[in-house]
Amino acid sequence: MSIKPFKNKIWLASPTMHGDEQKFVKEAFDTNWVSTVGKNLERLEQEICSYVGCTHAVALSAGTAALHLAVKLAGIKKGDKVLCSDLTFAATVNPVSYEQGIQVFIDSERDTWNMDPAALERAFQKYPDAKAVIAANLYGTPAKLSELRDICRKYHAVFIEDAAESLGATYRGQQTGTFGAYNVISFNGNKIITTSGGGMLLTDEEEAARKVRFWSTQARENVPWYQHKELGYNYRMSNILAGIGRGQLRYLEEHRIRKKQIYQRYEQGLKGFPLTMNPFLEYTEPNFWLSCILIDKGIEVSPVKIREKLEEYHVESRPIWKPMHLQPVYENYDFVMAEEGEDVGKDIFCRGLCLPSDIKMTEQEQEIIMELIKNCFV
Ligand SMILES: *Cc1c(COP(=O)(O)O)cnc(C)c1O
Repeated sequence: MSIKPFKNKIWLASPTMHGDEQKFVKEAFDTNWVSTVGKNLERLEQEICSYVGCTHAVALSAGTAALHLAVKLAGIKKGDKVLCSDLTFAATVNPVSYEQGIQVFIDSERDTWNMDPAALERAFQKYPDAKAVIAANLYGTPAKLSELRDICRKYHAVFIEDAAESLGATYRGQQTGTFGAYNVISFNGNKIITTSGGGMLLTDEEEAARKVRFWSTQARENVPWYQHKELGYNYRMSNILAGIGRGQLRYLEEHRIRKKQIYQRYEQGLKGFPLTMNPFLEYTEPNFWLSCILIDKGIEVSPVKIREKLEEYHVESRPIWKPMHLQPVYENYDFVMAEEGEDVGKDIFCRGLCLPSDIKMTEQEQEIIMELIKNCFV
């Protein structure tokens, strides 16, 4: 069978709009709330609170901004240790440096590819005064969230959940983004729903939410003139973008179901080949943001070969996040390995690949993509 390159590129994950978004954006224009205050912002915050099940949500310009303010809420100051997911996007961990804290990277477990609770426990034995933990739910798969949270409690550390990739995923029926004292979601363009760019900090602490609103709007004191006792930031989301978010939120469930179908088709279609899908715990329900494969050990085929082959046919795939402890910018930072003598995150990075998971990809297109992948193994 001869396969031709796709005329229109198949993306890893691109925005999927439905039309409702423009209605809310138009409303903002019509009422002239073209600013960082307005009804779309208020509503989006309320709607996310009731969807996720938290009491406060503050809409910000990015998930990264939300992570920065979460780190500030945790009271991280110069020299403070923060135990962080190692196999993740740099945005999970960079904000620690914004506050001059020091990251210690915690290896992944095989079960979920997320922070290994046993390694976290060992890290606390080495750094008992670590002030906070930041754990991500990689590719929409929940980490062992209650175990991680319990370990944080034991060591009196603040738990920050980076749910940027996992909006809509659940752990024993509870939404991700509710396990930390402070939690972060992202509406970046490639996430399961988008505002084009944006994020939110979620918390049940009223005072924390108030602080985040304050810091994100330049830390202006409540007096008629511009008075500042603290350093502020311009991190608030725009009311226009919140309108996109309101439209998108109505389709989160649909997006999640379509993402799951994509994952299941890969799982079925690639059966019998020397690879496995990104794993999840049976008592969790991921949002299946990205479908990934892990090529079996000892197999000659590299993820690079598959990625390059797909690229030839105008199909985007992407390497697994390169672990933070392998990044030049974090060269001299400590790393706590999961299993003695084995660097799990590095192994997943070396053998793994993120497959196109765009919900606009048709079943037929996915079949062709799977043919291309299978051809790499023969
Ligand atoms: C996307 C992402 C972020 C950052 O969110 P932005 O809205 O792009 O700033 C943080 N952590 C993880 C794991 C992400 O995937």
